[in-house]
Amino acid sequence: MKAIVLFGPPGSGKGTQAKLLRDCLQVPHISTGDMLRERVRSGAENGSPVAAKLQSGALVRDELVNRLVAERISQPDAAQGFILDGYPRTIAQAEYLGGLLEPRGLQQVVVYLSVNYNIIIVRLCARRQCPVCGTLYNMVSQAPKVDEVCDLDGHALMIREDDREDVIRDRLAAYDEQSMPVLDYFRSAGHQVQEVTADDLPPEEIARKICGILENNAVKADDRTQNRR
Ligand SMILES: [Zn+2]
Repeated sequence: MKAIVLFGPPGSGKGTQAKLLRDCLQVPHISTGDMLRERVRSGAENGSPVAAKLQSGALVRDELVNRLVAERISQPDAAQGFILDGYPRTIAQAEYLGGLLEPRGLQQVVVYLSVNYNIIIVRLCARRQCPVCGTLYNMVSQAPKVDEVCDLDGHALMIREDDREDVIRDRLAAYDEQSMPVLDYFRSAGHQVQEVTADDLPPEEIARKICGILENNAVKADDRTQNRR
């Protein structure tokens, strides 16, 4: 039983890894970004600043995300563990999570996806979206058949506002400032932090590496239990 916290800068591939790891670990993927977008879509956040914050990448207030996570992890499918993606992002959230997990005896393992910022900038700047059907492309890894044109409807592709280089640099700076102290907090609170370098490997290979680390880890934890007996 484990709570896996996927941690890493925007563009480090947390969402992709969370989906791949769900298959290997057989526990649900809990994305606070997805839950918040769903609330916006369903109208639950009408008149609140959540939608604007999601678009700009700004942090949504702690109380709301804390409550969403507390509700989600109390669902039966999360009883054997889960993968958190996009949470906790602040020290206050990390402390709250610790308070939720401790009484349940869930061990927290932080997987820190570290990616060179220049690689992130190249990766995100290469993203394009069709303004009509919304399909996402990447000029490096998932290029359309005809340059800068949507495969499905022939419309000229666009760069999303939050994928412009200056915006990406701002988001990375904000991450350094707000989230790096959270990593230090995890370490000082005694949680394992497993750093995985995710620079230029295919996502499947990174997921295999993480699964290997987590399995190894589970074996070691069993050893410790047996030694104690
Ligand atoms: Zn299109």
